[in-house]
Amino acid sequence: MQRTDRALILRRFAYGETSLVVHVLSPSFGRVHLLAKGAYRPSSRYYAVLDLFDTLELEWSHAPGRELDTLRAGDLVRRRRGITDDLARYRAALAALELAALAAQEGQPLRGLFAALELALDRLAAGAFPPSLVLGGFELEFLAELGLAPALDRCAACGRSAPPATSPRASSVFSPGAGGRLCRRCAEAARASGRRMFGVPTRTLELAAELARGGPTALVERISAQDLEKVRAFVVRFLEYHLESRPKSYRHAVGLARSAGYATP
Ligand SMILES: [Zn+2]
Repeated sequence: MQRTDRALILRRFAYGETSLVVHVLSPSFGRVHLLAKGAYRPSSRYYAVLDLFDTLELEWSHAPGRELDTLRAGDLVRRRRGITDDLARYRAALAALELAALAAQEGQPLRGLFAALELALDRLAAGAFPPSLVLGGFELEFLAELGLAPALDRCAACGRSAPPATSPRASSVFSPGAGGRLCRRCAEAARASGRRMFGVPTRTLELAAELARGGPTALVERISAQDLEKVRAFVVRFLEYHLESRPKSYRHAVGLARSAGYATP
């Protein structure tokens, strides 16, 4: 059965002397594992096409029950050279791919996630936003695509909208298990039932809510480097709660979350 679709490479491994195994994300088929025979031969139909971060158009043969499908042809749709020019962009792009790889399942269409990943890679290649702002925005979109978007500007338990920060030091109660922020009354009930909670600066939650709604454009002009670090540390901590295995690229960010010193109320 021949299949054709757009694709982004999630991971690649050498296979034998001249071949590659690539794991790709395709909007219609989800995760696809492909054997690219002779990928390193200049005569190959996809020589120098199978690079990370680029949008590809691939054609492959699918055989139900086989571990690897066979790549037949590949074309480059969009090259994103700007990503490898800069270490911070490169790391952010790798982290976005790793996150997508954790969610992608075979045979499960992921059109929203594919579009979000392409947009994040475009933004990283263009370099108009700080890489961590792009990655933070992607992480929030990722959570939303998986139905895990945290409640940031309302109470996760009763749904009432949360009051705005009254001072820069204001702190709010956040419970990953409850799905987000908790109002004072619901936090008391949750505490009595032994739920895990921690305090997050209300300002951080407000900025994360803006990032979730409007993407990096909403914040780029006015977020400080320090606030951006806090937003990312918070989002990573929430992601960590939901992810079964911790992606390698997140180790550094997780360290940041710890050093940001979120206290358990
Ligand atoms: Zn409540």
